[in-house]
Amino acid sequence: MIETSPNGNNRKLTVHRSAHLIGGNCIEITWQGNRLILDAGSPLDEPETDADVVPTSLDVSRSVDGVIVSHPHQDHYGLLQALPANWPVWCGKPTEALMRLTTALMGDRLPQQIHTFTSFQSFDIGPFKVTPFLTDHSAFDAHMILVQVAGRTIL
Ligand SMILES: [Zn+2]
Repeated sequence: MIETSPNGNNRKLTVHRSAHLIGGNCIEITWQGNRLILDAGSPLDEPETDADVVPTSLDVSRSVDGVIVSHPHQDHYGLLQALPANWPVWCGKPTEALMRLTTALMGDRLPQQIHTFTSFQSFDIGPFKVTPFLTDHSAFDAHMILVQVAGRTIL
């Protein structure tokens, strides 16, 4: 989805995966060259190598402002190990602990720097204003993510 504002700047929302299936979520919001990734999940039905699980539409050669992980299920964070180490990650503090625990149990580690957010408190990642809302789900510390950029709001 691409929108062009009157000054010619493009807002773009790309669903790299999971528009038509459950799990493996990976959504990108782009604004004036800034990139925000919402979830970095591995597909539930595809236990392949790292290279196989990165959506071909996701450009890993360019930097991103941030990756937000909504909750600690692998179909929402399992792609992190295949993504660049210099892509900063944001999630809830319990989500960080659970992701690190699960990854360590597999004998691995998460390569990115992880920042934690607090539910219901807005924060900025580049031009994106992000507000996480704690919500009910079969994972502890699950969040809906509200993103505001360039006068538009995405929940
Ligand atoms: Zn889940």
